[in-house]
Amino acid sequence: MLAPLDLGFTTLRNRVVMGSMHTGLEDRFWNYPKLAAYFAERAKGGVALIITGGIAMNRRAWLAPAAGTLNTSLDVPHHRKVTDAVHEHGGKIALQLLHAGRYGYHPFSVSASAIKAPINPFTPKAMSEGEILSTIDDFAKSAELARRAGYDGVEIMGSEGYLLNQFLCKRVNKRTDQWGGDIHGRVKFGVSVVEAVRRAAGRDFIIIYRLSLLDLVEGGNTRDEIETAAKALEAAGIDILNTGIGWHEARIPTIVTSVPRAAFRAATAQIKRVLKVPVVASNRINTPEIAEDILAKGDADLVSMARPLLADADFVNKAAAAKPESINTCIACNQACLDHAFSLERVSCLVNPRACHETELVYLRTQRKKRIAVVGAGMAGLSCATVAAERGHDVTLFEASSKIGGQFVMAAAVPGKEEFRETIRYFEHEIERTGVKLELSRRATKEELDRGFDEIVIATGVKPRVPKIPGVGHPKVLTYAQVLADRAPVGQKVAIIGAGGIGVDMCEFLLHEPEISLDAWLDEWGVDLTSSVPGGLREPKHQPPRRELWLLQRKPAGKRMGTGPGRTTGWVHKRVLERSNVHMMGDVEYVRIDDEGLHIRHEDAPRVLAVDNVILCAGQESVRELFSADERGRPTDPRFHVIGGADVATELDAKRAIKQGAELAARL
Ligand code: NAP
Ligand code: SF4
Repeated sequence: MLAPLDLGFTTLRNRVVMGSMHTGLEDRFWNYPKLAAYFAERAKGGVALIITGGIAMNRRAWLAPAAGTLNTSLDVPHHRKVTDAVHEHGGKIALQLLHAGRYGYHPFSVSASAIKAPINPFTPKAMSEGEILSTIDDFAKSAELARRAGYDGVEIMGSEGYLLNQFLCKRVNKRTDQWGGDIHGRVKFGVSVVEAVRRAAGRDFIIIYRLSLLDLVEGGNTRDEIETAAKALEAAGIDILNTGIGWHEARIPTIVTSVPRAAFRAATAQIKRVLKVPVVASNRINTPEIAEDILAKGDADLVSMARPLLADADFVNKAAAAKPESINTCIACNQACLDHAFSLERVSCLVNPRACHETELVYLRTQRKKRIAVVGAGMAGLSCATVAAERGHDVTLFEASSKIGGQFVMAAAVPGKEEFRETIRYFEHEIERTGVKLELSRRATKEELDRGFDEIVIATGVKPRVPKIPGVGHPKVLTYAQVLADRAPVGQKVAIIGAGGIGVDMCEFLLHEPEISLDAWLDEWGVDLTSSVPGGLREPKHQPPRRELWLLQRKPAGKRMGTGPGRTTGWVHKRVLERSNVHMMGDVEYVRIDDEGLHIRHEDAPRVLAVDNVILCAGQESVRELFSADERGRPTDPRFHVIGGADVATELDAKRAIKQGAELAARL
């Protein structure tokens, strides 16, 4: 991973590429100083080559109205801030040229044919030959401007179902002219862009092409077609082939946390065998070990990581220092990165709230060392304690249970969420590194907090809400904590009260074995890594569900029922629940629980769900002891601070908890 790569006219200092990730900062020129600081930290952290978020070459290429564009010399000085900042730290940076095609969320979108994407309400216009030629010129002009702005190269975005991918596949390309037909015609647009960019930007300019290796949609390409396209692009003069997996409209998960690590490396290895140019592996690579393994086995020449470098800017340096345990690992939750990008919010990272906020959330060394008590070693407390100690404070962290992690300990028990353990491991390391005094199995008393500390942070978290349903004390009733943390035995037929994030997680826990193998995962989703069938889609082989489940809520069952909280991950949960025949019911009134089961009223009729267990996933209540509060619930003593679930239990999530902890610690 640390070996340099000689491209002939330039050398990359190691094999790590920071993959393109739209942050929201690239769309407005006044945010470029923030974008520069964000990339500078990653370059300082050792990454060899950074690829920017997608930048359009003309307006029709926009992903959303007024998206970042580089097509006049007025744009150059803004981009120069970014390239200078990266070069200052010895890194290289390529601009990604993105034409969204029919994914453009505006009425001016274009594509190979006028076929609407299932994820976009706008129908694109089929490009005329003249429009294709002028778009090729626009790619070339932007590449030339990118060179003037100091970029070391460009990445031409040809995967994920964007315009060039739309031209490459019969799914969208129904043309009968020279830009359609067989794969030679369908790749012609991409090839022409590469040739034009090369002419405009010169030989000593890195051209990366991102090609879809596995479309994961009907009408996608086969292995032969993908290899033919890759060879044509190589012959056109690319320096590096980057790889993409799955169109955005694909209904196969490709990057969420339940996708096994490096699940798609075999597809990369296959294309590498037929090319001479270096090939980049991507998707669900999040540790140095897995990156090394891919490179050592010759499956790829470079590895691309985007989210892992949001989570830890120093990933490469830490790996180089042989301290992988100190890396803040991306847990592939999407909650602060892709979920934000899709709701047009600035991207950040759940485990690293400084990501994309490098100039705003700054951990300065304290001038006045204080004695700080943090009570509760859940996510909020851990974040606050470790940042405060990093700043030079004397921090004691009290935890009533015998281990740190709080709600994350339970989350990590859910199949497909094993990655959450990495955050606990990271905080264990941070406690050690920053010198936090950790007191496990220790309930702090009000008196000792009052006496011994300058600042007291209450991060005591939440406890499961027990709804007032007659019979809720029946032995068949369990809280989610009893099931996930204490591993209370659960029967075959189960009613789950509450269909929020934890209700959905509970379904996954009760339905699946932990840590399924890659083969089982590929079977479950029907993925053929060799693309011997179009798009790499084969018939899925589902395992029969391990239990019969009822997932219940009082509000009506809307479209989002069964999705959990994540915008970009919800459909994966819903699909799992649907194919496991989970009964999802809204408009439920809970009447009582007894030996017969759970008595409800549903659609104005009484019903009994004859279940072995009823599991309460009905939200949480704050644990707010240890301080005196005013009528608004705020501590009366200004030395006390309340964060995380102890502050507000509703819609608590780890993203808010970690951010709130870090922000408080930065102020103390
Ligand atoms: P939640 O999302 O607020 O859901 C609580 C559920 O309980 C709702 O379905 C609610 O539906 C029901 N409920 C509330 N009060 C009730 C009562 N008195 N009696 C019966 N049912 C009641 O809470 P959660 O599932 O406990 O999750 C807690 C937090 O963790 C959330 O913010 C969630 O986003 C986060 N989380 C995130 C993930 C993730 O993967 N990102 C996973 C798990 C949890 P009705 O009121 O309609 O009955
Ligand atoms: Fe990874 Fe989650 Fe951070 Fe995104 S928000 S970079 S998925 S840890």
